Parts: sequence; structure tokens; C-alpha cells
Amino acid sequence: MFDKYQVRGQIVRLDQAWVQVALRHQQHEGRDLAPTVRHRLGEMSAAGLLLAASLKFDGGLVMQIQGAGPVALFVVECESNGTYRATVKLRADAHVPHDASLNDLVNQDEKGRFAVTLVPARAPAGSGRKAAASRSALTVPYQAIVPFEGDTVAEVLERYMERSEQIPTQLWLAADDHAAFGLLLQRMPQQGGKLPADFDDDGWRRVTTLAQTLTRAEMLQLPVEAILQRLFWECPMTPLAQRRPSFACTCSRDKVGAMLKMLGQSEVDSILAERGEVAVKCEFCNNDYRFDAVDSAQLFADGIAPRTPASRH
Ligand SMILES: [Zn+2]
Repeated sequence: MFDKYQVRGQIVRLDQAWVQVALRHQQHEGRDLAPTVRHRLGEMSAAGLLLAASLKFDGGLVMQIQGAGPVALFVVECESNGTYRATVKLRADAHVPHDASLNDLVNQDEKGRFAVTLVPARAPAGSGRKAAASRSALTVPYQAIVPFEGDTVAEVLERYMERSEQIPTQLWLAADDHAAFGLLLQRMPQQGGKLPADFDDDGWRRVTTLAQTLTRAEMLQLPVEAILQRLFWECPMTPLAQRRPSFACTCSRDKVGAMLKMLGQSEVDSILAERGEVAVKCEFCNNDYRFDAVDSAQLFADGIAPRTPASRH
């Protein structure tokens, strides 16, 4: 929070928490994935964490770009506790030029869509005060889908934030294979028209002009403390809260088993007859879940996925 200006901000820099995801996405179905695709996913990851950190309920945020182009879908799922996972889906036979812009990737014929879904945590059993509070904030998933407007992930998100929250917002995002960075600045809504005596009305312009001097190299290489010091050393700030983001996948053998039950026994049996096993690979973490005939029989007999090792190679 900038003390003298009606401006608040959030900043995130991912290193190991992004490298884990970037490494998993160096290949896609046996092909090298173009770095431009991976780096846009890194920018979305940083942005998703910034938005999820400001959620006023326990739960998560899913950010999707549904593409018309070589990329069919970018997905980032972030929890308010700072964990996230991210993946990308390419169209079959998609060719991605190494210098493809975001519009080239997902917005051909202006058919790209940007969606944000807010997902409340399942209300815990019992009715403690905390559970009641989280229920009152958001009880069912809420999704906003907006047209794709902008040339970069940051611009698309700025347009979305201005439409949905009606608060002037600026974002700076960058990612390579070693780091992902995000800085979000928002002009605070004025409350009751009361401003502090020393309120500086040019604060928003001043803070964003300073942020504009941030270079890509600084975003990707400097620790956040150094960036804040370098940009805003003249602007008094009050730190609000800190979190340590991390990669965490929510997949499990039980969930894959539940999905196979939805698919139905005859479908699963026909895959088993053809291939001898049903193999499901998690698109977020690459974990392999394999079900053979014995596993399948147990699955459809008692509804509990057998506890065999998650990965068999
Ligand atoms: Zn997974």
C-alpha cells in the first residue's frame, strides 16, 4: 500500500516454483514446445497468483485463454494459499513460429476468449464462524468470459480488470524458462470522498510512470525487494502480507478413478481389451495413472480406487 497515494500493488517473482512447471512443458506430445507458448503460460501463472492473492474468500481462481489458433487453451489454477498449477493444450499439427505473439497463438479471426472463474473452497463440515464467513462471500463458482482484447497477457488482463472491477489497473508481466514475474498496480476507489490532508492526486500517474521504467531483464533477474527499492525508493509503502507461492497439483488416483467411473464400465472394458490397460496422464504434472483389468474390476465393484503406486514406468 502506497501510504500517500490511493494506490495499492502486488508483486510476485517465481523461480523454482515456475521452473518445475516450465520443465514439464518443454515438450508437448513428443514435440518441443515453442518457448513463446511456455513463456505466455509463465506470465499467466504470475498474473493468476496476483489475482488469487486478493480473493476475499477461501478458494481458488481459474484463468483460461480459449484460443483460436495453434494454442487451443491456456489454463492456470491458483489457490488463495499461494499454490498453483498450469498447462497448455495445442491443436493437433499446430505449427508455432518462434516469434508468435499472443494474438498469433490464440486470437486468429478475433475468436479468442478470456475467462476467469472464481471457485469457493468446499465449505468444511460443521458450521464454525470461518466456514460461515467463507460461505457468505461466495458459495458457487462464478465465471466471467470476456472477449480477447490486447496484444499481451498483461493488456488482456488489464482490460478484464477494468471491466470487471472498474478500477484502473496496470500490470507488468514477464517470463522465461528460469523465472516468471508480475507486478500489479491498482488505483484505490475513493471512500466517502474523504482523502488524507497530504493526499497526492498525481500519485497514480507517478507510481505507474516509475513502474514503466522496469526492464524485462530486471523483472526476470532481480529479487522483488530490489525491484521495489529501485522503483519506489521515494514513495513510502506499507507492506500488507507475504506468501510463498508453490507448484502443487490437485490430481489423484481417486479422482482419475472417479472420472473412469463416469466414462462407464463398457467404455473402460473396451479400452482394456484393446490396450491391456487404461493410462491417463495428468496434463498439469505429467503424473501417469494406470488401471489394468484387476484395478478396473475393483473400481467398478466397490467404487474405491485401489492404492497402487501412482507412477509405473
Ligand atoms: Zn497432476
